[in-house]
Formats: sequence, C-alpha cells, structure tokens
Amino acid sequence: MTAKPRYDLHTHTTVSDGELLPMELLRRAHVMGHKAVAITDHVSFSNVKEAVSSVARDCEAAGEWGIAAIPGAEVTHVPPGKMDKVIALARKAGAQVVVVHGESPVEPVTPGTNRKAAENQDVDILAHPGFITEKEAQIAKDNGIYLEISCRKGHSLTNGHVYRVGKSVGARFVVNTDAHSYNDLASHEQARKVAIGAGMSGTEADEALLKNPIRIMRKRC
Ligand SMILES: [Zn+2]
Ligand SMILES: [Zn+2]
Repeated sequence: MTAKPRYDLHTHTTVSDGELLPMELLRRAHVMGHKAVAITDHVSFSNVKEAVSSVARDCEAAGEWGIAAIPGAEVTHVPPGKMDKVIALARKAGAQVVVVHGESPVEPVTPGTNRKAAENQDVDILAHPGFITEKEAQIAKDNGIYLEISCRKGHSLTNGHVYRVGKSVGARFVVNTDAHSYNDLASHEQARKVAIGAGMSGTEADEALLKNPIRIMRKRC
C-alpha cells in the first residue's frame, strides 16, 4: 500500500517560536511525503506584516520541490475585541490560511476567543478550541470554519470533546500537528491515529485528513 499524502495546515518556524527556518521545515516535510504545509506562525499587531511576508518568501521558493507551501498565520492571544483587525492585517499581508489560536485547556487564552474566531469568515481554522461550546461550533460551521483536532501535547487533551461537540452540529474538522520542530510533523498514518483517538470513524478521519484540507486550499490558495 502506498503511503497516503499528508496535509498539515498549522506549523511554526523561527519566524515565531518554532525551531527551524520555514525553508528547512518545508524541506523536511516534503521529504516525509507531505503534499501541502501551511506555515502559520504566531502573529499579533507587533509582527503580523513582517511574519507573513517573511514566511511567504520561503514558501514561494520551496515550491520548486513540488510541495504546496502555503503562507499563513496563527492569530495568537489577541484580545477578542481586537482580533478582527489582526485577522484583516494577516490577509492583507498575504496569509492564505488563517488560523486562530483557540481556547486550549493548557493556556490562559482569553474567554471569548473561540466565539470571535467562529464569527469571522476570514478565519479558516479554529485551532485547539478546548472546551468549545455547541453554540461556538455551530457558528464556526455556519461560517465555513474548520475545527482542529490537534496532535500537539496539551492542546490534544480536549480532542474528544471538540470532536463530539463539532459532530453534534455537523462541523468539519482538520487534523494538524501545530509542529514547532520537525519531530512534531506527522505522517498520514500517525495523524489518522489522532483522529481515530478523538472518536472519529475511519471515513470521518479520511475526510478530515484528505478532503477538508483540500477544500480549504481550493477556497484560499
Ligand atoms: Zn507556539
Ligand atoms: Zn500553533
């Protein structure tokens, strides 16, 4: 059986708090068999413009290997009342995939962040949304925003909850690593285990791993 392609739409580099340059992370992901990787470094008002344009330069060059290298951003720890502004700035700077750093159970993310992200149609993925409510999941679904099942230690503690609540309202999911180092990248098979572990059926896992990332890319890239 040939290995299934991998799509990872949430990763970090030295442009924020990751270990590798975007170029090296993309190279390693390509060699691992990734078909597409979005580099979504942490952004706020302080760095959004520079971070996105910096990542975009490596993404453009890495395309030579045949990997879809997508410049993105993760809007992180921005007060909910100010998030729309940073999201707009990220899009303006060229971010194709916009992730919001949701209310992870292991970080002091401001309550209201999930809701604000779910309401903004410029957001693609609500990452590690912790104890997301049915209402928030419903709004995300209505706005075409995908809920993330996270491979990352800590953030992944509420994967089962995210899946259960998201499924109850018919939301769509993606499975991302939130890699900060190349060791954090996952093959399709590894990521599939995380999806199944969250409660997904095999069919649902395939949709989250193979179909939904392509839907996001078709819409934005
Ligand atoms: Zn980080
Ligand atoms: Zn992240």
